[in-house]
Amino acid sequence: MFLLTKGKQWTNWSETVHSQPSKIVYPKSIDEVCQIVKRASDNQEKIRVVGAGHSFTPIAATTGYLMSLDYLAGVLSIDEHNQTAEVLAGTRLYDLTTQLAAKGFAQENLGDINVQSLAGAILTGTHGTGVKFGNIATQVVALTLVKATGELLTITPDHQEVPLQAAAISLGLLGVVVKVTIRIVPAPMYCYISNKYRFDDLLNDLPDLIEENRHFECFLFPYSDMVQVKTMNLSEEKPRSLRKHRLSALVMENYAFKFLSETARMIPKTSRSISRLSARAIGSSIVYAKSHDLFATQRRVKFREMEYSIPLEYLIEALAAMKAKIEQMKYNVHFPIEVRIVKGDDIWLSTAYGRNSAFIAIHMYKGMAFKQFFYDMDQVLTAYQARPHWGKMHEMKLSQLHSAFPKLHQFLDIRKHVDPEGVFLNSYFTSLFELNIEDKLTVSHSSTLK
Ligand SMILES: Cc1cc2nc3c(=O)[nH]c(=O)nc-3n(C[C@H](O)[C@H](O)[C@H](O)COP(=O)(O)OP(=O)(O)OC[C@H]3O[C@@H](n4cnc5c(N)ncnc54)[C@H](O)[C@@H]3O)c2cc1C
Repeated sequence: MFLLTKGKQWTNWSETVHSQPSKIVYPKSIDEVCQIVKRASDNQEKIRVVGAGHSFTPIAATTGYLMSLDYLAGVLSIDEHNQTAEVLAGTRLYDLTTQLAAKGFAQENLGDINVQSLAGAILTGTHGTGVKFGNIATQVVALTLVKATGELLTITPDHQEVPLQAAAISLGLLGVVVKVTIRIVPAPMYCYISNKYRFDDLLNDLPDLIEENRHFECFLFPYSDMVQVKTMNLSEEKPRSLRKHRLSALVMENYAFKFLSETARMIPKTSRSISRLSARAIGSSIVYAKSHDLFATQRRVKFREMEYSIPLEYLIEALAAMKAKIEQMKYNVHFPIEVRIVKGDDIWLSTAYGRNSAFIAIHMYKGMAFKQFFYDMDQVLTAYQARPHWGKMHEMKLSQLHSAFPKLHQFLDIRKHVDPEGVFLNSYFTSLFELNIEDKLTVSHSSTLK
């Protein structure tokens, strides 16, 4: 029988969202998910599912049932011929990549951490980088969810009632996703290179860097002309030990950075020098390893994050505008700005819907003032047709979301059709989408940008 806890507070990874679910349930089978959903529906309770709680917004928060699929995890089967894998939705990405690697396979692209649940990553449009690769939801071939009635619904690309393009990034609003079939690829061998670049050179070379590298990302350090460029490309070299690379990342990006971040928190005026110091410390490195060993990094320093996607062609102009604004306003910020690239797709709520996109992420260390900085960057980026990452902070209103996501209307119609009583809603979504369904449930969060 499923595990159940009561009276426990739930908090997300970044410790910016807190809620008091009436129950936290851990089903151990798909049947149990169906029973719990049916019971909650019959009792007019609300349900949200939580993956790894790595979203910065209150999208998983509820004062109804909070369902964790931590016990509904694992790879069910791998079809080597068709290169697909059927996976239980609660599987953490680190487990998935390890299990795939054991059979010689991999996901074609991943983000920069691997602790998320597969469903959580898919449903929010989590992405990695590389102009030839879509976000993780584009890897979905089919998914099975438990509807508000407790019945199962399997959605394949030819499904009429609920198109896969609506379900793939559906924020947990259509039901509990229990199983996903994803496309996989033979595990590639990569050469990873990290290098220092001058900002002006980067702007000149950006189109080539994006086009010529399979995976390209860069980190711009505020108040510095130095940029870190990371690339990953196919290689025929043999994998080498990652010990030194991992140790250096652990020390530089976590322990040393935590110390510097604490200094910046206690004496905010040091942020600018700390950013310059971090930029000077960028080292050059080359590493050869399998893809899943390279995509993921450890993130032990807690922060808030806002990430917007813009059409790729505006990237250079947008970066220059952000840099100018930062230098004019002198915000106390020492975290680098992260830039990644994602191929356009046809998923309705995808931040890359219909366009190759550049993703620009800004961060602020936990405990430091962020509102003015985030608000101003929002203002800069919204001038470039920005779309917010669904799992990260933003303050876009419904009208802005409708212009940013042209298929949002159709998605909301499907949501209403599939879950008319709003079993899978919480107060964050009723407010964000201005839904006229009574929801007395409240969650506390602090995402207001100004
Ligand atoms: C340190 C850090 C690094 C990150 N790096 C990246 C990155 O590189 N790229 C990127 O794009 N994003 C990144 N993110 C954002 C993160 O990938 C997303 O917020 C993702 O949704 C988190 O997955 P999760 O399993 O924690 O999901 P949660 O945050 O727990 O849930 C996300 C949403 O999915 C719903 N949900 C989860 N599971 C189910 C299910 N089985 N059925 C129905 N609904 C479900 C939840 O209700 C919620 O609405 C990062 C976040 C952090 C904190």
